[in-house]
Amino acid sequence: MELKDLLGGKGGNLAEMARLGLPVPPGFTVTTDACRAYLRTGDEPFGLGDEIDLHLERLEQQAGRRLGDTVDPLLVSVRSGAKFSMPGMMETILNVGLTDTTVIGLAGQTGGDERFAWDSYRRLIQMFGRTVCDVPGERFDAALDAAKAAKGTTDDLGLDAGDLRALVETYKDIFTAHTGRPFPQDPREQLDQSIRAVFSSWNAERAVLYRRQEHIPADLGTAVNIVAMVFGNLGADSGTGVAFTRDPATGAAGVYGDYLANAQGEDVVAGIRNTVPLQELATVDRRSYDELLTIMARLEEHYRDLCDIEFTIERGKLWMLQTRVGKRTAAAAFVIAAQLLDDGVIDADEALTRVTGAQLAQLMFPTFDLSGRPERIATGVAASPGAAVGAAVFDARRAADVAAGGTAVVLVRRETNPDDLPGMIAAQGILTSRGGKTSHAAVVARGMGTTCVCGADGIDVDVDARRFTAGGGQVVREGDVISIDGTTGSVYLGALPVQPSPVVRYFEGTLSPGADPLVAAVDRILGHADKVRRLAVRANADTFDDAARARRFGAQGIGLCRTEHMFLGERRPLVERLILARTNEERDAALADLLPLQRADFVRLFQAMNGLPVTIRLIDPPLHEFLPPLEELSVKVALAQSRGEPDGHDRALLDAVQRMHEENPMLGLRGVRLGLVVPGLFAMQIRAVAEAALACREQGVAVSPEIMVPLVGAVQELEAVREEAMWLLSSLGVQARIGTMIEVPRAALTAGEIARAADFFSFGTNDLTQMGWGFSRDDVEGAFFTRYLELGIFGVSPFESIDRDGVGRLVRIAVDEGRRARPDLHIGVCGEHGGDPASIHFFHDAGLDYVSCSPFRVPVARLEAGRSAVAATGSDTR
Ligand code: ADP
Ligand code: MG
Ligand code: MG
Repeated sequence: MELKDLLGGKGGNLAEMARLGLPVPPGFTVTTDACRAYLRTGDEPFGLGDEIDLHLERLEQQAGRRLGDTVDPLLVSVRSGAKFSMPGMMETILNVGLTDTTVIGLAGQTGGDERFAWDSYRRLIQMFGRTVCDVPGERFDAALDAAKAAKGTTDDLGLDAGDLRALVETYKDIFTAHTGRPFPQDPREQLDQSIRAVFSSWNAERAVLYRRQEHIPADLGTAVNIVAMVFGNLGADSGTGVAFTRDPATGAAGVYGDYLANAQGEDVVAGIRNTVPLQELATVDRRSYDELLTIMARLEEHYRDLCDIEFTIERGKLWMLQTRVGKRTAAAAFVIAAQLLDDGVIDADEALTRVTGAQLAQLMFPTFDLSGRPERIATGVAASPGAAVGAAVFDARRAADVAAGGTAVVLVRRETNPDDLPGMIAAQGILTSRGGKTSHAAVVARGMGTTCVCGADGIDVDVDARRFTAGGGQVVREGDVISIDGTTGSVYLGALPVQPSPVVRYFEGTLSPGADPLVAAVDRILGHADKVRRLAVRANADTFDDAARARRFGAQGIGLCRTEHMFLGERRPLVERLILARTNEERDAALADLLPLQRADFVRLFQAMNGLPVTIRLIDPPLHEFLPPLEELSVKVALAQSRGEPDGHDRALLDAVQRMHEENPMLGLRGVRLGLVVPGLFAMQIRAVAEAALACREQGVAVSPEIMVPLVGAVQELEAVREEAMWLLSSLGVQARIGTMIEVPRAALTAGEIARAADFFSFGTNDLTQMGWGFSRDDVEGAFFTRYLELGIFGVSPFESIDRDGVGRLVRIAVDEGRRARPDLHIGVCGEHGGDPASIHFFHDAGLDYVSCSPFRVPVARLEAGRSAVAATGSDTR
């Protein structure tokens, strides 16, 4: 167990900063163990109260103040902090310890600053009320607005001590009206209740949603950090800020941050007032600024990575309140890893662990084509890259609804808060008019890989009227399409055309690595992945274009060519003839017409792959998939009849569809079963492969064909096909490997026998999952997976990431028994899991030889295959 498991990220890093001798206010951490116990039983674990007593006493000694002291009271913050950062998802309560009496003491201790003391007290009542007692936050906001209006000011700072004191009374009334009891005047009771509320915030709706989105396990729980308060709101020589040791958007070296004078930290994160760039602190308080830079350099050296920090300055004294290895954009991840590698801070293996396939996938997104000189209506902070086009929507819930209806949406808000999460997840892009790179919108969007432009302060967002007005007077109403560029911060009217990303252009060979620091970083790190990976990477491709692209993207062969795609389009009538054939002659004639077409397809594929292995799967789906749907045909036939028109062909098709109807087509007449039942079908395909190979050989093109039989469950099925194939191939003088998919559980369990008739195995993990779980893929995801995810039956759909324990066990059994029977058995996977990072790590661990995935995923698979080679078993792929 790591420190972070027990103390959470925040607590662990606070402890580490304290150990490094950095200025951290005294405090202690209640472990995630206690939280888990609380969430299980609804009660604090035995002895927790005593331990808190003990550590509180120590904290009081260190701080030189006591909780509840009427002259010099200690105040603390009660802060959530889980193992994985969940920005803004859980609760933090500041200023715990203030009461009607200690507030006077606090004013005295701060040189008679009564305004500050009352401001702190009203913040406590607000945060405690909202978080601990579920008092609606709007009540407090409304009271604050009313107080400001009465005073004729729009700024909190316009309220004086007397106003705030009155506001505290109003807040207490709101609290009592809502909870039926007075605001607690016992600081220890405040503390205990706050701790419990933080425990419970682990299961707040938005936190649950965020975890699901980020694939964070549901049962970790949060730690609770109790930290002596320091005050950034004690006047102009105080303040608070957030900073990064490098630019988290581009990875460029150099400190980056936001600072807000005379404020408590929550103000920065909430984007309530506009911050100034950190550099301006240098002019206000040079000493603190220099100290901060020294500390940040120290933190980078210690963590050997980009760090982000939260700090507060109390009357010229700098305090560190938080640090962690900072979130960053995908581009920054690559650039930083390559830079640290260049600087000798980390080695190439470690650089590989600093980036993920998901990040690489994100970098392959297209960007806007600006050659049409579109009109830019606003500019904001480029907070999370990408090119998003969608209808402007001003409300998170509506955004989720509209997106669910299939319309691309850009969520437009003044600023976002955690309640906006459902809309943020559903949106293509997020646009806000307030807040910087560290605002809620920016942090969450970067985490999700969603395009985001924030702080576009040239636009005036009117959420109630559902519109915004740009600086040039343009009005965008709900439903109007806008384009936002998260890489440049630009906002455009209408839908802009998009163009490929530089990384894709590099893969395509039209951009050299030297042209762009990001591309250079990708080239360098992916090069290392290729060097260390054991898994080969192939592509699933059925056409020349796909195969050619796959090669440019680094595929080492084709792991799956689906021949059924070659039966569609204008060839459909030929397939209909095959299905409707009443005599052997009719059937053979139909097959004979299909043969040259298939042969031409395979020639093109072999040409594209030029000697690399090409795995051709014999026809897999049930034949009726090639016929029109039953309803459509019935209507056509009925219409023709009512009009007295001829309906011979349609009627014949209808008869065939009715005859071939299956209750469970996925478990019916398909794959090898079809090949054994329809004479000549597989033979035609195998002949097409062989003749294509011969044709290529004549042109001097090397070929390496592999024939793959789908849906085998028994060795006898494979043997029957193999025998026919061997006879055909040898009569034509062509060599090809013959293997099988392992996608029926029985095949996995009898793999030792099946291996006798197979040169290779390729796992079809979609079907293996479908049949392993008994889940009909087409139905279950929409029907009940949400509930299953909620219940934690699995953390992610088993169709997305392979279920290691169940389906994965079938894979392991098949690998072990197959190889035992036949040590040179070549084994791969061609289901969609072949391009999924977590699954790739599993396939590496299970000893496969290759993964095969869609051409666009090939670079991702190369990277993840490399990562799995340098990582410990079961490593994190998030
Ligand atoms: P989050 O996880 O949402 O960042 P934090 O626990 O870090 O929540 O608290 C939010 C903000 O409250 C911090 O950024 C910090 O500025 C402020 N804060 C927390 N603890 C203290 C403290 N002991 N003294 C002063 N400010 C604090
Ligand atoms: Mg924080
Ligand atoms: Mg299958």
